[in-house]
Parts: sequence; C-alpha cells; structure tokens
Amino acid sequence: MIVVNKRCVHCKDVYRYHYSGSYIPRHNDSDYCPICMKTIETALESVPPKRIKKSVETDEVDLKTLKQWEKDTIQEHEKKTSNDEIKFPLMKQVFSKLYNWEKEEHEVVERVNGRDEHKNKVFYYSYWPSNKIESLKITVEKEFNAETMEEIGYWKYYK
Ligand SMILES: [Zn+2]
Repeated sequence: MIVVNKRCVHCKDVYRYHYSGSYIPRHNDSDYCPICMKTIETALESVPPKRIKKSVETDEVDLKTLKQWEKDTIQEHEKKTSNDEIKFPLMKQVFSKLYNWEKEEHEVVERVNGRDEHKNKVFYYSYWPSNKIESLKITVEKEFNAETMEEIGYWKYYK
C-alpha cells in the first residue's frame, strides 16, 4: 500500500492520498482532498454522461494479429530504452475479470493497443484458461450516445 501526503489544489489542506493498495477510501483523488472531491462528485451527479464507452465483439482483427502487435510493442520499447541506465519493464495489462468457482479459474483479459491501420483503437482479448480456443473473445472499445445508444465510432483517448 502506498499512501502519500498531498496538498489539495482547491482548499490547500494537506491530506492522505491512497496511491495504491487493497483499501482505497471514497473520494480518493490525486488533486483534491476528500471533502473537495465529495463536493465535486455531488455536483456532477446532476450532469448526465453524454457518451458511454463499451467493448463490443469484433472480427476486424484476429488473435494472431493482436499477439504480433504485443510483440512489436515490446520490441519497440526495448529498442527505445536500450541505452537507458535503468530499465523499466513495459507493463502488460492483464485483468482478471470473472471467477468460475466450478473450474476454480479466472477469466483472463488482455488489453492491446491497435497498430497500423487500427492505430488509436483499443482491443481486448479474453479467454478461460481451461478452454482457451472456444472461449476466446476479441473486443474493441467503441463510443455510444448515452441517451440513444447509437454507435458514434471507436473510443478515442485524448491526452
Ligand atoms: Zn480540499
């Protein structure tokens, strides 16, 4: 667990920010203290979201392509950091989503950033370890109108 002291950007009070750990308190934020964050969250409740992000199944890429992209990304990272004195490994995002009590296993979900003509798209592949081939699912993040649920396009991340 990592907990650090932070100064709230609004009220300037010093507070404890939970950077990581199994217990994350409510209204935990890297910029605002819990009191200010709670105020912000309460105010935002009156503003309904306009867009929704959803992962939908796709056949525009196959597992082979996703695996190749993962390899390419790792190789590029190693090339880019080959002269660095201290090396940080590239973090691979693997999620455990669901748990099957009967089979005693977690569903594995991996995130892959699109490349080439699929650049800026975010793909996921998921499977159950005991049944990799049949349970394989490939999804891509898409954007929907929250009110009409009409598809707008691929979900884009803005920096
Ligand atoms: Zn504050």
